[in-house]
Amino acid sequence: MKINFIDLKRQYQSIKNEIDTAIDNVIKNTNFILGEEVEKFEKEFADYCNVKYGIGVNSGTSALHLALLANNISKGDEVITVANTFIATVLAISLTGAEPILVDINEKNYNININKIEEKITDKTKAIIPVHLYGQSADMDPILELAEKYNLKVIEDACQAHGAEYKGKKVGCYGNAACFSFYPSKNLGAYGDAGMVVTNDEKISERLVMLRNYGQKVKYHHLMKGFNNRLDTIQATILRVKLKRLDEWNEARRKNAKRYNELLGDAVITPIEESYARHIYHLYVIRVKNREDLQKFLNEKGISTAIHYPIPIHMQKAYLDLGYKEGDFYATEKSAKEILSLPMFPELSEEEIKYIVHNIKQSNIKI
Ligand SMILES: *Cc1c(COP(=O)(O)O)cnc(C)c1O
Repeated sequence: MKINFIDLKRQYQSIKNEIDTAIDNVIKNTNFILGEEVEKFEKEFADYCNVKYGIGVNSGTSALHLALLANNISKGDEVITVANTFIATVLAISLTGAEPILVDINEKNYNININKIEEKITDKTKAIIPVHLYGQSADMDPILELAEKYNLKVIEDACQAHGAEYKGKKVGCYGNAACFSFYPSKNLGAYGDAGMVVTNDEKISERLVMLRNYGQKVKYHHLMKGFNNRLDTIQATILRVKLKRLDEWNEARRKNAKRYNELLGDAVITPIEESYARHIYHLYVIRVKNREDLQKFLNEKGISTAIHYPIPIHMQKAYLDLGYKEGDFYATEKSAKEILSLPMFPELSEEEIKYIVHNIKQSNIKI
């Protein structure tokens, strides 16, 4: 058997007619930039998150970058985030000129360690970016308390968490703004790059509308220096078709995760779902001591796996200038050597999960 890490073809086959018609309509109307389809998707996705405003942009990275700018983050400021995240979280901070300040993870849930944030807050700290990594919400209440105490902005990186919940409410409504990526492999994925910021703050929403579109609200009247970071209209029309299925797809991922958990038992360290969270398993991440051996073994059996992420931010060449060294983030560094992401997508079959687990058990695992 051959099992891809993610298989987008199966999903396309299941919605092909609707997608093809939607794309056709945009092309027939030749209304390629912003317009009705983008506005409708912004409204539908903001409604989905129970948030007032949605501002479509061209990627999750732009969503983070512009959300920081709209919250007045700039050079001289410090922004706190987590050492185990996709590099884009930190790049977005750098793009504003602000300094990224990293915090170690909680080794059990892989999200920011809420007990290690306060010690990093200085006079320069302006914002915290919690990342809802792998599809599980960060523990937001203690973060919001710190933000209140020190007058900080909170910007959620929800790029892996479309539809994930914290204490019964979908993520995206907790911060001053929240950022989503619709990169093709995300739980809600476009057929190219796309992203969105959602917010309940009208002023921030107005700034974002300008920032993504050359700093203008009215054509050729530029009120600020902006960017060309708009959400592509063809991507918006595709995302409208897919948003209707997101809950069903997230439910299928949860079901797959449950099957993995049941079949794997204690053979490896399986992911946990915190009592405050509804995990939507963007990634299903297990942990073993001899990760390289297991990955190689599974690869030989036709099973593709991945590592999220093999090199923590502070060990990346691009970020040596932050002045961190090996040993600064113990839990992040340790987990980076042991984590392995198994195939996870809604269409993964029972037979495939059984085959994967069977082979994991056949290998010589150390935990
Ligand atoms: C995917 C991702 C991003 C960046 O999104 P792009 O659309 O690829 O720019 C940012 N943060 C996290 C946690 C992500 O997973």
